Amino acid sequence: MSDVKIPLAGVIGSPVAHSKSPALHGAWLKRYGIAGHYVPLDIAQGDLAEALQLLPKMGFVGVNVTIPHKETVLALADIVTDRASLIGAANTLIFRKDGKIHADNTDGYGFIENLRVGAPGWKPPAGPAAVIGAGGAARAVLASLLDVGVKEVRIANRTRARAEALQTEFGNRVKVYDWVHAGNMMEGAATVVNTTSLGMVGKPDFRVPLDGLEADAVVTDLVYAPLRTAFLQKAEEMGCVTVDGLGMLLHQAVPGFERWFGQRPEVDDELRQLVLNA
Ligand code: NAP
Repeated sequence: MSDVKIPLAGVIGSPVAHSKSPALHGAWLKRYGIAGHYVPLDIAQGDLAEALQLLPKMGFVGVNVTIPHKETVLALADIVTDRASLIGAANTLIFRKDGKIHADNTDGYGFIENLRVGAPGWKPPAGPAAVIGAGGAARAVLASLLDVGVKEVRIANRTRARAEALQTEFGNRVKVYDWVHAGNMMEGAATVVNTTSLGMVGKPDFRVPLDGLEADAVVTDLVYAPLRTAFLQKAEEMGCVTVDGLGMLLHQAVPGFERWFGQRPEVDDELRQLVLNA
């Protein structure tokens, strides 16, 4: 009998049945012939602290974190990366051999990598970025845009106070626009991002006017169901380079997989198809 431990990883959240992460990580484990498993773990809020103590003892090397635990896990981790504390949420935990829990947020990395791969000509400092929405995902988008050298990030949110809170936190490179002026803030923007859930299957339509949008802008949508959102379709008709949101989901998973299983995985078309069909 062998005492070689089979590494386990997973996604903790509640609910988690809808998560595409098991299909994504499962495909990589198969592709690289790694004897490991990645499982969905439905963990209620009240059980989170206990679960984080038990999982490493059960052979887990780490987990992804989704709603409703992304913020709560920060207080339970021993080490929090700068980007996770700046964003105020973690999506990747590493259970270290010394027993410490390391929390990171790779959403911003996934967002930027998706733009770099999907729009190779994209130059972050080329002009202001216009960000629609100010929810959890917008925080990662904002932090990463500022980090890669965007000089001004304009932000408009239905609830203006949430956008103002981001400005207070991230500083005066962030400019807040009224929700009714979301179209105008796109004027001269080199990067335009929808971080709201508008346009997603089952959610209200994306009706933000694109009056200010210019043809040389790179446009992306975090919504990936449907893959070609109405926002991206309109932007494409206006001559913009567009990048769908699925790549962000795939790229954000790369650093976790590499840390847990010791192999940097590739994001390619085969993987996109597999996750889309999952
Ligand atoms: P969230 O924290 O709940 O924020 C939702 C955002 O959408 C807020 O800005 C909210 O505005 C806005 N919104 C919702 N309904 C609206 C409406 N009827 N009219 C105007 N604005 C509305 O959610 P989140 O975690 O940031 O996620 C946002 C979207 O990004 C979701 O569709 C999610 O699936 C997607 N996402 C994708 C990826 C990826 O890898 N591609 C990663 C993360 C998230 P208020 O503040 O006014 O409510």
